[in-house]
Amino acid sequence: MNSYSPKHIAALIERVGRLLSTEAHAEGLLPVQWETLRYLHKANRFSRTAAAVTAYLGLTKGTVSQTLNALESRGLVAKRIDPKDRRSKRLSLSAKGKRLLRKDPLGVTVTAVNALEHSAQQALDESLGALLASRLTGQGRQPFGQCRDCQYFADQHDDGGPHYCQLLQEKLASKDAEAICYEQLPK
Ligand code: SF4
Repeated sequence: MNSYSPKHIAALIERVGRLLSTEAHAEGLLPVQWETLRYLHKANRFSRTAAAVTAYLGLTKGTVSQTLNALESRGLVAKRIDPKDRRSKRLSLSAKGKRLLRKDPLGVTVTAVNALEHSAQQALDESLGALLASRLTGQGRQPFGQCRDCQYFADQHDDGGPHYCQLLQEKLASKDAEAICYEQLPK
């Protein structure tokens, strides 16, 4: 087995990040615009707001606002007034945005990961997940984990749809369980 060190692993992560960033200048979009499209694709309905995008990406409000405006002007993202809070806007991917995501440049890396042994994929998933959680906690940022792994998630609840969020007191559909959430509190 190759010798390894924390410094070497950090350098590998940096190089992979650089590769991803270079490849993410695709289809006329910037890396941050692709990240925003991906986020809106996997976030639940409570988390598709400019504030949540800002928290997820760890960028300034101004940068996120510019990014969302650029995506909206290209017809990739739609904004609508939140009927429950008229001061706030809900974001969603348009049909055009969903179609563009099929050409996501991250797909090259997904294919490369898929070519690894199953055990290597599992080890990467666990190790990188733990590393990300540690770095986010260090910066006081939310984990944005999956709904089904949240302390507030009630599986097959009597008032659910079939699941239920005990924090927001909202019904959750089966597909909501897989989405990521701004409010998620890991179990
Ligand atoms: S159960 Fe947790 S992750 Fe799911 S919607 Fe509620 S707060 Fe968000």
